[in-house]
Amino acid sequence: MLKIENLHAEVDGKPILKGLSLTVDAGEIHAIMGPNGAGKSTLGYVLGGRPGYEVTDGKVTFDGQDLLALEPHERAAAGLFLGFQYPVEIPGVSNVQFLRESLNAQRSARGEKPLTGAEFLKLARGEADALALPQDMLKRPVNVGFSGGEKKRNEMVQMGIIDPKFAILDETDSGLDIDALRVVGEGINRIMRKADKAVLLITHYQRLLDYVRPDVVHVLADGRITRSGGPELALQLEREGYAEAAA
Ligand code: ADP
Ligand code: MG
Ligand code: MG
Repeated sequence: MLKIENLHAEVDGKPILKGLSLTVDAGEIHAIMGPNGAGKSTLGYVLGGRPGYEVTDGKVTFDGQDLLALEPHERAAAGLFLGFQYPVEIPGVSNVQFLRESLNAQRSARGEKPLTGAEFLKLARGEADALALPQDMLKRPVNVGFSGGEKKRNEMVQMGIIDPKFAILDETDSGLDIDALRVVGEGINRIMRKADKAVLLITHYQRLLDYVRPDVVHVLADGRITRSGGPELALQLEREGYAEAAA
């Protein structure tokens, strides 16, 4: 589904990704772990097409398409979803308005009819309930004044509504308490654990992987994948640290 070959990318002329290769097949969940500053978030931004992140070499194919040739909104319409390490606040735009417009923009790009207001509200309320996000938060401005955990749950509500083919989730577990961690983990499984979908889960800790069991675990260090293994690799990393386990 996603094939990254020898990806090199730089920010402000500084090389960050230095020959990263990774293949994710449909039906798989891959965890990416690695030290601070390794380039994990950069990988997410490059795949999402964020301006300022310049690809200098390599190739990325998504469902057989040249992903890097697509504009960010075309990547989203193709089924790519990016969950941010630091979700943005959008004062003046209500959460429902934002979610509805995101969904309908993608539906329209795929030649599908927009949902009616009533259809959309039903969908949004169902997702908010499933993620234990209070209904009134749907009416508030996007992420403004939300706690860290609420922002992450709101992001999962967005993912449930968009129903993407491929999700890159960047430290979705940061800022979550134990109950929220379980709710978010169950949400990821419910929405994304399907034969025709796949996930790249960027995380520092094993704890989210107790809920969302990865098929493959990778270590990203200094801009490339330095080691890959099964779920047991995450446990080893937690015990031994990146320096030891990656050696
Ligand atoms: P990680 O998510 O693995 O902690 P990042 O991808 O956020 O790492 O960052 C990788 C490196 O790129 C870091 O050294 C960081 O300082 C640098 N970096 C990221 N964004 C920028 C930027 N906008 N300008 C300059 N350096 C950046
Ligand atoms: Mg980090
Ligand atoms: Mg990061």
